[in-house]
Formats: sequence, C-alpha cells, structure tokens
Amino acid sequence: MSIKQRKAAGGHDTPALPLEQARANILDAVQPLSDIETVNLHQALHRVLAEPVSAAIDVPAHTNSAMDGYVLRGSDLTAPGTTLKLVGESFAGRPFSGRVGPGECVRIMTGAVVPDGGDTVIMQEQTERDGDQVRFEKPAKPGANVRPAGEDLARGDVALQPGRWLTAADLGVLASVGVPEVQVRRRPKVAFFSTGDELKPVGQTLEPGQIHDSNRYTLFGLLSELGVEIEDLGIVPDRREALDEALARAARCDAVLSTGGASVGDADYVVEALEKHGNVGFWQVAMKPGRPLAFGRIDQAWFFGLPGNPVSAMVTFLQLVRPALVQLAGSRPRLPLQITLPVTADIRKRAGRREFQRGRLLTTEQGLAVAPFGHQGSGVLRSMSEADCLINLAPDQADVSAGQPVTVEPFAQPVWNGD
Ligand code: AMP
Ligand code: MG
Repeated sequence: MSIKQRKAAGGHDTPALPLEQARANILDAVQPLSDIETVNLHQALHRVLAEPVSAAIDVPAHTNSAMDGYVLRGSDLTAPGTTLKLVGESFAGRPFSGRVGPGECVRIMTGAVVPDGGDTVIMQEQTERDGDQVRFEKPAKPGANVRPAGEDLARGDVALQPGRWLTAADLGVLASVGVPEVQVRRRPKVAFFSTGDELKPVGQTLEPGQIHDSNRYTLFGLLSELGVEIEDLGIVPDRREALDEALARAARCDAVLSTGGASVGDADYVVEALEKHGNVGFWQVAMKPGRPLAFGRIDQAWFFGLPGNPVSAMVTFLQLVRPALVQLAGSRPRLPLQITLPVTADIRKRAGRREFQRGRLLTTEQGLAVAPFGHQGSGVLRSMSEADCLINLAPDQADVSAGQPVTVEPFAQPVWNGD
C-alpha cells in the first residue's frame, strides 16, 4: 500500500476504531520486557516483581499476644471474679520458658510469645493484681486476643506473585518473610519528542505564529508519575533529516511517544519516515478528544504517535499508552476505575463516538457529584489542569441534563496490578 493509501486508510472517511478495540489491539501486541535485575528492598519500591516470592517462615513466626495483659487457660476462667496464680512473664523478644498450668497465669505484653499451655489473653484493664494473685473481673472468651502463628502468611504460601508492581505494603511483606532482595523487571525506557515548526521551547521568546511546546512537559509528568525511565528528545522540526535522526535515537528505547504530525492533514514525510524506520499503522480512534493515533514498531521500540492538541495528547496517553506501558513493564494494567455520579450541569454531546469531558468531583448535600469544566476545547489545557477526573460519555449517549448520572474516571486511581 502506498503512503497516501495507508494514510487514507486511517483517514476521516473510514470507520473509526472504538476505543476498547484500539486498546485491545495495542495490549495484544505489546509484550513485557524480559530483562531481569536483582535489587534490594529499598530499590524495589514501584518496580515489577519478576519471580514469585514464597514465605520461608510463618508470619507471625510464633503464636503471640494482641494485648498487654495476662495469658491463661480459657477453661480456667468460666466464672466472674476468678483468681489465678501469677507464675512468670513473657515480653516481646523475651519469652517465658515455662508452661501455663491449670490455675495459673503469666504476665504478657503485645507481640510476646504465648507460652505452652496458655490459649487466651485477658487485657490488663480487666484485672486486679495483688502480689502473685491476679483477679479477673469477667469470664474469658477462650482464644481471645491471641494471634496464631502463620495468621498473616503460613510457611510455603506465595506472598507475592510475579508481575506485581511493588507498593509500600509489599516491601513490608517482603521484609516480614525475611527476603532482603528480589528479582524485578528492567524499567522500560521511554523516549518522547514533539513535532511542529510552530513550537518554541519554553524560555525562548515567541515569534509571530509560534507557541510554546507544552506537550513535552505534560508527557514528562505523566511518564515520571508512571516511574519509567525517560529520554526527552526535544522538539523535532518539520524536516525530514531531523525526524530521521530523532527516530534513529528513539529506536534504541523500548517505547517512543511523539505528539503532533500524525494527523491526516500533516506533511507526508512524517508518514514516510515512520514507514522507512519501522512498521506503523495509522488509526482513527472513535474518541474525543483524541482521534488520530499512530501505533507500531520502530526497530525494537513501540511507537505511539499522539495527537498534537495538548488535551488530546494527554487523554490518549491515559486511555491507550499508559496501559501499554504498564504491560511493557511486566505488570497487568488496571482498566479505568469508573464511578457513576450525577452531573451538576447540562452536557452537550453528539451521539456516535466516545467523549471524555474534563470534570471536577465535588461534595453536595446529596453526596458526591461531578461538575463539567466550562470550556471543553481540546486545545484548552487548563481544562485538564483544573480537572480531577474524566467524564466518560459512551458513544450512544447524546446530551445529558443536569442531575443525570454519568460515568466518571478519577485521575487518582490505581493503574498497576490489574486482575
Ligand atoms: P497537529 O497534531 O500537529 O496538527 O497539532 C494540533 C494542534 O496542537 C495544533 O494547534 C498545534 O499547534 C498544537 N500542538 C502540537 N504540538 C504541540 C505541543 N508540543 N505543545 C503544544 N501544542 C501543540
Ligand atoms: Mg503539527
């Protein structure tokens, strides 16, 4: 197929790809990186585990007390006001070496080993001590306030599965099973650049017709939040050699993101360069903002050609690129978490394609609601900056009146460790 034909195939007159289909196509293609590194627990935070980690010990290792109080035999304490003989102490790290016999109790602290014979702990506040005699106000619930060995993890249990993006709690779990280092996947290296002769780097004065390149900063932020390694390739002018050079550098990374230039109306040399360096498809995705997307390979790197409009670039990243990068990193992407909320103002929408409007969550007297941002133009970056969620309007949905329920995807949501 000629360049012109390929471009036309992704053109406005062909039926656009539903968003879910575009996402599925991308996720079908992208394979996780296989390189593995060994890191210590500090370095393992927000890395993707490459091996299953099993517990070599019970956690907790010993049956222990959940309270400060006295440990005894539950069967000794059936009547209120019973008195038992104090025979020793069990402190955290300093267990009692004897047994708790009938009619006896042992002073015990939180986390201390429950001595043999004992099965129940009574909290200190419900006791009265006089020398070696301890009086208990109430009868015992046998087994109360005792944490059995292996309650958290039993020896041999898989504590964490491969593919897990390690959270703060996971580091604690690894430490609790005594694992000092783990195997993780290499972090994807993601390059990005902006195309367009109208773009001027921030810090330089704009000539007539120029704008500052904002996409490289939003992408820097989005990629940094995701925790991948980044390489900023700068602004690539609309010149063949410049693009060739950028693509040659980008091809050494695991993924490449460009913004602008992939639209149907853009200079053909972008398509030419992409065809020369790799195998890239040009899609129209049935979503607003967004629409044009180039996806494919440049050598070993996955290439995502995002729209130039700042809001379109961000929304396309969130909906299509981020899940792909999570998968590339070796974890399973979480599908967008959606909540249904009433909208506080009318929304205008044409049926036919999916539309993401920018919204803000707010608490009303009736509960949580979402307010659409006033100006929804795909060039109005402030709509993203003021927003804390996307309002996801289904293709068949038309205008929505104030008070009607809509689907909302908060910006702050888990994107790793899907099912
Ligand atoms: P394009 O996809 O190249 O046709 O660009 C669509 C719109 O987005 C145009 O108004 C561009 O000026 C604007 N645009 C493209 N790239 C950037 C960028 N890096 N930063 C800000 N705006 C951009
Ligand atoms: Mg352009």
